[in-house]
Amino acid sequence: MRILLVEDERRLSEALAQLLRAQHHQVTAVPDGEAGCEKAMDGVFDVIILDIMLPKMDGLTVLARVRQAGIATPVLLLTAKDEVADKVKGLDAGADDYLTKPFSTEELLARLRALARRPGEVISDDILRFGDLALHLSSYVLSCGAAQVSLGHKEFEIARILLAHGRAVTPKEELIVKVWGYDADVGYNNVEVYLTFLRKKLAYLRSTVQIRPVRGVGYVLEDAA
Ligand code: CA
Repeated sequence: MRILLVEDERRLSEALAQLLRAQHHQVTAVPDGEAGCEKAMDGVFDVIILDIMLPKMDGLTVLARVRQAGIATPVLLLTAKDEVADKVKGLDAGADDYLTKPFSTEELLARLRALARRPGEVISDDILRFGDLALHLSSYVLSCGAAQVSLGHKEFEIARILLAHGRAVTPKEELIVKVWGYDADVGYNNVEVYLTFLRKKLAYLRSTVQIRPVRGVGYVLEDAA
């Protein structure tokens, strides 16, 4: 997942970023509300972790602006114990969930997994499924029945995004931004190269799922079974 972390407590922010990266997430960490708001407006994140008490702009204002701008990215608010009123305001302002500090890392990861679920996406024990395919999110293994292959980091990210979209079209632009980021100098051909790798692995697995191009738009998964 691409995660935006807006937290001003440096040690907490660093610890969370390290934890999330160890779980193969891409983390963008910013230390104040203004920067958080600006980043959130990109709309490329799968989840935003947003502290309430922040310098420059508080978390609730960030949340209100982001929702006003039509950005629907799930938001997990971080609150201190004595901010009960803020939790209510936060949920009213469009937060999807909140976590009270201090929290366990297991609880944070469980909440994030729940928030990142999209309609049509079925996750059980961190497995993402489509057709006869199962993508194991913690081990980067793609399996089909008894057959399985390991995926490289970019192959894994692409597979994860395609499987999450399922029968909905995945725009090519979204793949590039989510897998390579805005700053990366990536030609469209790079995406094709990785899709070729993935198609070979699907063939090796004898999966009935195929990655079909949608001209001028992106890609879609089809299950020929
Ligand atoms: Ca804070």
